[in-house]
Amino acid sequence: MKKIVVVGGGFAGAALVRQLSGSHANGVEVTLISEDSYTTFNPMLAEVVGAAVFPEHVVAPLREFTRDARFVMGRVSAVDFSARLLHTSSLQGPLAMPYDHLVLAFGNRARCDLIPGMADHGHVLKTLGDAIHIRNLVLRRLAQIELESSPDTRRTLGHFVVIGGGFSGVEVAGALADVLHGIRQYYPRVNAEELAISLLHDGAILLPQLPEALGLAATTSLMQRGVAVRLNTAVSRIDATQVQLQSGETIHTATAIATIGTRANALTGVLDGVTLERGRIVCRGDCSVAGLDSVWAIGDCAQIPLPDGGYAIPTAQFAVAEAKHLTRQLLAVLRGDPTQPFDYRSRGMMATVGHHKGVAELAGLKLTGLPAWLLWRAYYLSQMPTAGRKFRVFVEWTWGMFFRPDITHFRFERSVEQDKHPEVRSP
Ligand SMILES: Cc1cc2nc3c(=O)[nH]c(=O)nc-3n(C[C@H](O)[C@H](O)[C@H](O)COP(=O)(O)OP(=O)(O)OC[C@H]3O[C@@H](n4cnc5c(N)ncnc54)[C@H](O)[C@@H]3O)c2cc1C
Repeated sequence: MKKIVVVGGGFAGAALVRQLSGSHANGVEVTLISEDSYTTFNPMLAEVVGAAVFPEHVVAPLREFTRDARFVMGRVSAVDFSARLLHTSSLQGPLAMPYDHLVLAFGNRARCDLIPGMADHGHVLKTLGDAIHIRNLVLRRLAQIELESSPDTRRTLGHFVVIGGGFSGVEVAGALADVLHGIRQYYPRVNAEELAISLLHDGAILLPQLPEALGLAATTSLMQRGVAVRLNTAVSRIDATQVQLQSGETIHTATAIATIGTRANALTGVLDGVTLERGRIVCRGDCSVAGLDSVWAIGDCAQIPLPDGGYAIPTAQFAVAEAKHLTRQLLAVLRGDPTQPFDYRSRGMMATVGHHKGVAELAGLKLTGLPAWLLWRAYYLSQMPTAGRKFRVFVEWTWGMFFRPDITHFRFERSVEQDKHPEVRSP
């Protein structure tokens, strides 16, 4: 049996394992190692922030689609390329695993030090944990305002600042506008004018990856929903109760959400023989890692050249296309056939801007408003792995169109931890 080991169960790794499982390749044993037991649909994280869906609806358990493969929950910490051995820390301690072909699909991480103060006072959005944290924070801020008497502090608590005007920033700002509008009635001591959302973007137009007209449409749509869109606005510092702009201006806010900046996964730092370019693993055209045998890389961690001289873009769409391509290459190599270079062009891009509206570009066609929003939802629903999961998300979305967001504030505290805080204080 040839052993194919895949590191990372995100968009790229999960799609690869699904493809390999469906290819019915004989004589192949596939193992997926990932630090979480699920794959996260990152483009839907803004919906979690906006309490439009429950967190469990934007993830899919990896074991649901690794039935023909082995799944190991663990964090890969080193690779011995000469011995073809992978070192992992698992629930049962260290694990050494041999491989014949190794696929690196471990993505990248959020960069928390891009702006001074960001690590301590900012809130990044990259993982499901980040999204749940921000969702809870929004609910907590409204509860805090209700108990606060100082008008200035109430405004600071009610001002949500989103940094970054790319896809995530626009979607988070739209989701916040929706959730604040939807839940305010549950907080009768919070006045509408005490709540505000600002979207700060260090560029002349929102969504620079899309045609200008769509960036303008997103701006208009957000502003109509009460979001203050501030273009060409760079942040120089984040503090507990304020955001400092490079212009010298100060914005009072207790909640700065940063949707900008990524850094290389720390694992890249210990992979001897791997070359990095802008934090990504340098690959050959067929997705094999330059300078190494039988090692491949796909997704956000990989720098894959395209025939037109450019590089594959770090998006979910490219990650899935790369996984499909690599499946064919691995099967070709196992048959003893030559490999082919990866060649793919983006099919389009889309973003939601809240209130059942979106912007999308599909095969040169520009869509705005409800059609773009429906297209966004249809696409991500189609990407859900099983029929059961698709149905659950569909029901949840349909529910959300008619009912207000859920304001349950989860506290992950166990009884033993509660006991540490005495309930009754002596006078
Ligand atoms: C908030 C947000 C919104 C986004 N919106 C869009 C969008 O609208 N459209 C779009 O196309 N793209 C979007 N993206 C980008 C998209 O999510 C990524 O391009 C895509 O997830 C890349 O897939 P990947 O498999 O390379 O990495 P990931 O999906 O990040 O998966 C990497 C996996 O590797 C695992 N891992 C990491 N290190 C280790 C280790 N040492 N050992 C074991 N496992 C490890 C991680 O736990 C994770 O499961 C968004 C991203 C974010 C954060």
